[in-house]
Amino acid sequence: MARKVLVLGEVRDGTLRNVSFEAIAAAKVVAEGGEVVAALIGANVKELAAEMIAYGADRVVVVEDEKLIHYTPDGFSQAIMAVIEAESPEGIIFGHTALGKDLSPKIAAKLQSGLVSDVTNIEVVGGNIVFTRPIYSGKAFEKKIVTEGLIFATVRPNNISALDRDEARTGEVSSLAVDIKDLRTIVQEVVRKASEGVDLSEAKVIVAGGRGVKSAEGFKPLQELAEVLGGAVGASRGACDAEYCDYSLQIGQTGKVVTPDLYIACGISGAIQHLAGMSNSKVIVAINKDPEANIFKVADYGIVGDLFEVVPLLTEEFKKLNI
Ligand code: FAD
Repeated sequence: MARKVLVLGEVRDGTLRNVSFEAIAAAKVVAEGGEVVAALIGANVKELAAEMIAYGADRVVVVEDEKLIHYTPDGFSQAIMAVIEAESPEGIIFGHTALGKDLSPKIAAKLQSGLVSDVTNIEVVGGNIVFTRPIYSGKAFEKKIVTEGLIFATVRPNNISALDRDEARTGEVSSLAVDIKDLRTIVQEVVRKASEGVDLSEAKVIVAGGRGVKSAEGFKPLQELAEVLGGAVGASRGACDAEYCDYSLQIGQTGKVVTPDLYIACGISGAIQHLAGMSNSKVIVAINKDPEANIFKVADYGIVGDLFEVVPLLTEEFKKLNI
């Protein structure tokens, strides 16, 4: 059954986040040959519409207002509700990001619909659209089908592959005027905390450090390795609690959930709460002095050794490969 599916394009610092393109790929599955409409919300975001089309959107609806320059639940819900009312989609896909996690339940409640959140795979089985989502901190997966009404889902970044970019694709771009009012929160200023670089939740490579890194200084070799691999640096809560790094780097049950192509765990014991945030990574490499460390149970490759010797050696070797 062909459906019209709406996707929210997520803009950060003037560029579209990858999860927007992954959401389009997910929407294509749900649309089953129907139309994929992308919504772009913000100030000066219209120029990004072509990118959404190149990644597979058939049409883009833009809502621009200076009051939408930063995300606020009131502003964005007014904008996306106006798009939903104008388009009457049969499916909606957001990224399972901080923004998507905040906005999607609010919209689902307004629409009196269900919500399948944190989806890692979508497939059509026996005529049904089957959503897979991790439960119990990633220890098990459940499969869900929506039997009636709107199909509304959020997709976890880095799990559903975006379609290939095709600049030759064309599609209509229209603007929708929405009177954004009665905002209960106003963002005055955005202050960046952690060091800038590759976004941890979208990084293809993560080099993560634990208490074994021993100091803030001890993170330097990890940063060098991450830089050579074009990746991001992450951390265990042990390292954050010890004040070796900022909590924004924490990966795990109470931190970020990541699924990079490559996760290199350095001096991390592999507590269950840490595994909850990274065990679905595609390839896991663990470096630990203790051969009995729990992290080796989930690792594809294990190196028993001192991270201060192993990490610089890896950096040197990867430098030679010129990647
Ligand atoms: P440790 O357990 O101290 O491990 C350090 C490791 O480094 C050891 O295995 C050691 O062998 C190795 N090592 C030491 N020196 C070297 C060296 N030179 N070279 C190589 N290896 C070396 N933790 C998270 O990470 N994320 C979470 O989101 C999270 N949420 C939690 C929520 C709750 C409710 C609770 C109770 C705990 C949570 N924790 C979380 C904490 C978790 O239980 C662990 O305490 C924490 O993950 C341990 O961090 P660690 O592995 O860095 O430290």
